Amino acid sequence: MKYDVAIIGGGILGCATAYRLADNPAIRKLIVIEKESDLGTHQTGRNSGVIHSGIYYTPGSQKAENCRVGRRQLLEFCDREGIDYEICGKVIVAVSDDEITRLHAILQRGVQNGIRCNPVDPDELAELEPHVRGIAGIRVPDAGIIDFRSVCLRLADLVRERDHEILTNAEVIAIEPRSDHSVVQTSAGEIEATLVVNCAGLYSDRIARMAGEEPTFQIIPFRGVYYELREEARHLCNNLIYPVPDPDYPFLGVHFTRMLDGRVECGPNAVLATGREGYSLIPVEMKDMMEILRFRGFWTMVRKHWRQGIAEMAKTLSKKRYLRALQRLVPSITQDDIVRSRSGIRAQALDRNGELVDDFLIIESDRVVNVCNAPSPAATAGLRIGQLICERVASRFS
Ligand SMILES: Cc1cc2nc3c(=O)[nH]c(=O)nc-3n(C[C@H](O)[C@H](O)[C@H](O)COP(=O)(O)OP(=O)(O)OC[C@H]3O[C@@H](n4cnc5c(N)ncnc54)[C@H](O)[C@@H]3O)c2cc1C
Repeated sequence: MKYDVAIIGGGILGCATAYRLADNPAIRKLIVIEKESDLGTHQTGRNSGVIHSGIYYTPGSQKAENCRVGRRQLLEFCDREGIDYEICGKVIVAVSDDEITRLHAILQRGVQNGIRCNPVDPDELAELEPHVRGIAGIRVPDAGIIDFRSVCLRLADLVRERDHEILTNAEVIAIEPRSDHSVVQTSAGEIEATLVVNCAGLYSDRIARMAGEEPTFQIIPFRGVYYELREEARHLCNNLIYPVPDPDYPFLGVHFTRMLDGRVECGPNAVLATGREGYSLIPVEMKDMMEILRFRGFWTMVRKHWRQGIAEMAKTLSKKRYLRALQRLVPSITQDDIVRSRSGIRAQALDRNGELVDDFLIIESDRVVNVCNAPSPAATAGLRIGQLICERVASRFS
């Protein structure tokens, strides 16, 4: 069977792209190819589940624009499809004088990005989150919580209902260009497609290379460990409590997240993972590690960020250190209040100069569209990113 479009990766971006294309009359037949036995089991199923408002991102950036539009599209989709979510709002909390300037800068960005956000003083903070001790804060009423995997699974159902295919247990191992199409070699056989879309998340650089690109970046897997509040300690967090993030780093810092089922997660931190799917410290995936160690940009990044790296690793190895980071926001939390839970791995592109690529990055060639950097808030922005890819793809068929 020859397909118009083959999408590699059955996470939220692959499924959102398929959903957008499935409604396009120019596309007769498409397929989503996923290596796992189920969809959304990597980043999509292992994230914090926060519907971001878009407050943090550089005005005019793809993150800022697509988060704002994508959030609205996500909520409309969930309303239409009966998927649970809750817009509970969040607070960003400054605990020391040196964080105040950074807090103001975030507030300004929020205003520039058109996000509803307002400063709160310690009394207002205490009303919103009685166990938080901060000297200033920002309230963002439009942040929310959701299970992104349930969105991904529903998108896939709708793709199937429109007579397109989702193929699981099929790992893409090679892509061969032919005169007017590509042959995608998978562990489950060959697939011919006029156009290939690479939504392979943690493997997007490898797939781009298979497709003939020579990416100037590499995906670095950053592992984040979560803890969870014991049931008796859940009262310590009403909704979402965030620290003021380090502006040199693309991660938001360990935060408290109430989930739809009432549990409260704390985290994630961010350390180099021992493999692209290294969800625990051992075993070390040698092929992945060698690839990272051979990449020049990695060593430049290490020289720049080794202090943060050590601090984050200490949090992974020591519950006490992790607790200390949480206590900056909620001082009364104790070691007995938290238990270690799951971990997730972020796919973060790093360029040859050792800079973590901040914005979303999509690279197109004749027959392949590669989604090369889609870190947070890409789950919130998923439907919008899918729409943008669909526009690029459909224009080639019309
Ligand atoms: C810890 C963590 C917290 C986060 N928190 C948030 C948040 O609160 N809010 C938010 O908006 N975003 C958040 N994000 C970001 C968000 O989860 C991701 O941006 C988003 O899920 C990316 O989706 P994806 O489809 O690109 O990737 P993935 O979900 O990783 O999907 C990629 C898929 O490609 C498949 N694949 C890879 N290689 C192959 C191959 N060779 N053949 C076939 N299939 C292949 C994989 O198996 C996988 O299923 C977080 C991410 C992490 C890791």
